[in-house]
Amino acid sequence: MQYISTRGKVEPKGFIDTVLMGLADDGGLMIPDVIPSVSAQTLEEWRSLSFQELFLKIFSYYTNGEIPDGDLKDMVKRSYASFRHPEVTPLKEINDSLYVLELFHGPTFAFKDVALQFMGELYSYISRVRGEIIHILGATSGDTGAAAIAGVRGKEGIKICILHPHNKVSKVQELQMTTVDDANVLNLSVKGNFDDCQQVIKELFGDLDFKSRYHLRAINSINFVRILAQTVYYFYAYLHLPQSAQGKTVNISVPSGNFGNIFSGYLAKKMGLPIGKLIIATNENNILERFVKTGEYKPGDFKSTHSPSMDIQVASNFERYLYYLLGEDSAKVSDYMAKLQREGAITVDSALLDKVQTEFAALGVKNDECLNVIGKYKQDSGYLLDPHTACGIAAYEAYNGPGEIGITFATAHPAKFDEAISLLNISQEFPAQIAGLSALPQHMTVVEHDKAEIARQLEVFYTLSAEIG
Ligand SMILES: *Cc1c(COP(=O)(O)O)cnc(C)c1O
Repeated sequence: MQYISTRGKVEPKGFIDTVLMGLADDGGLMIPDVIPSVSAQTLEEWRSLSFQELFLKIFSYYTNGEIPDGDLKDMVKRSYASFRHPEVTPLKEINDSLYVLELFHGPTFAFKDVALQFMGELYSYISRVRGEIIHILGATSGDTGAAAIAGVRGKEGIKICILHPHNKVSKVQELQMTTVDDANVLNLSVKGNFDDCQQVIKELFGDLDFKSRYHLRAINSINFVRILAQTVYYFYAYLHLPQSAQGKTVNISVPSGNFGNIFSGYLAKKMGLPIGKLIIATNENNILERFVKTGEYKPGDFKSTHSPSMDIQVASNFERYLYYLLGEDSAKVSDYMAKLQREGAITVDSALLDKVQTEFAALGVKNDECLNVIGKYKQDSGYLLDPHTACGIAAYEAYNGPGEIGITFATAHPAKFDEAISLLNISQEFPAQIAGLSALPQHMTVVEHDKAEIARQLEVFYTLSAEIG
């Protein structure tokens, strides 16, 4: 298997080169040239596999033989040893039509740990076998940064710099990032919002000379390996439904922002996982809901909500879906993306919209409704949802049909977002790993929203890293 760009202007690449490239050099996103298919019989055989075993099966279709089996197995073992639950991503029954897949048992209590714990191991491996310098640069609205730092802290051959918006991430998120004292970690707290951080990062990666001079590598979900690691738990969830649910239509509801997590579901479905609808749950930043309902994709005004990790107006993985929607025609994708850049919006025709609506349903959940859902499920089921997961449950309630099974992804632990939970006068117990954070010293550098100043900080940090090794 080789990897190509959605915009068609990058020579086909192998697996490791695709990981290293991150954003495709032509501005597109990397995808496999052919999506492998998994037969119904193979799926049946996978039912008894552990999360780690399933991970290895799925990756074997994609790594092109570039990583020896034993090495991959070691990496996977180490990646998920840091999870607090033996099943890694356990499936919990809420009632006979609703299951929650808990994705928050990793070191930073959000789903991003699942992919980023592995990505840390993978970058470390690539650094070792290829002698590549790995300088990770990313922007975060909170969870990605914390998970990425947790994935690479203290690892040899890797330095990581994360930009976050100053005073605009949750307290727990800030502490998770800034209380890490390893020398290979730099936190820049930018006076601006998340979009400002993202913009600087895009410009630095877009400067191909700067990117190669400082060996910049991406950890955001434009990196295909994150998408691939996330497909594993779609398979795991489906295969771990009880006998009573088998044979029924299974829909999966996913709290969504950048369209990364749910694109993994789309990929799993294309590989042959027989799931019904993929339900996109967003908050009041509802660009994806508007697209699925009207065919128009147009960033709106940024809103701050109870689910800040989904406060996103431009869903960076959307282009991957567009590629398949447009019949794998990279010239068409390039045209649409150029139009989006030029006019600030794109619209698909009604035939394409029909196709979108057979594959997805979408709901933008209002702030009040998000809190109502948390209160209701706490009362009726004794299960405390975090505000992102609550949006997922609201979308499940809206779109799961009679007799169908719904799996909703729990993308974060409620302790991470107590700002919202406490509005309901629900008091929760904090896991020790979170409760202990506020006693630790913080390490971060506050900077202006200024590309030149940020570039200077990076030059110093990354140059030092090269000397220390
Ligand atoms: C990042 C995040 C999301 C959104 O995931 P995408 O892959 O960006 O769609 C949802 N919930 C939580 C808790 C997150 O951290």
